[in-house]
Amino acid sequence: MSTLPPLPYETPASEADLAAMREQLGREMRGVRSIARRCACGLPAVVRTAPRLEDGTPFPTSLYLTLPSMVLAVSRVEATGEMARLTEELGEDPQLAQRYAAAHERYLARRAELGSAEEVDHVSAGGMPTRVKCLHAIVGQSLAEGEGINPIGDRVLEQLRPVASIDVCRCEETAAEQDA
Ligand SMILES: [Zn+2]
Repeated sequence: MSTLPPLPYETPASEADLAAMREQLGREMRGVRSIARRCACGLPAVVRTAPRLEDGTPFPTSLYLTLPSMVLAVSRVEATGEMARLTEELGEDPQLAQRYAAAHERYLARRAELGSAEEVDHVSAGGMPTRVKCLHAIVGQSLAEGEGINPIGDRVLEQLRPVASIDVCRCEETAAEQDA
């Protein structure tokens, strides 16, 4: 197994982070290994989890988007049917397809750093390597790995930039919006 460069933004997960994610998700985040990316305010945005949960359940999505403002913005993009459009584009653009397939391999290699779950050995996340099914998972990888690894995630983040950016905290306004 080749060694990957470290995740550029990874930091340890504290008790406060676990509590913050409980708040963000409305449930306990299980299998937490670290925080792969944070909001500008410091709250968890992408959590890195083990490929297998404590109870033995395989958990292929090892870079999981938790930041409510980003989750919401990505959901709005999904609601426009963007996944079907992107999947079609993958079928028509061999270079894009090749980069996306490489992102899939990267996802598997990154997850393997934390152990294995043979049931999901070749399953990455988000529909990779040939389809786009969940933009949350794909954006999670792009935020965790930084730009240049997942071309689809990078593109969605660019598209979202005016309304949701990892560099601009919108935690408070999102909470207010969700309470309204
Ligand atoms: Zn924030």
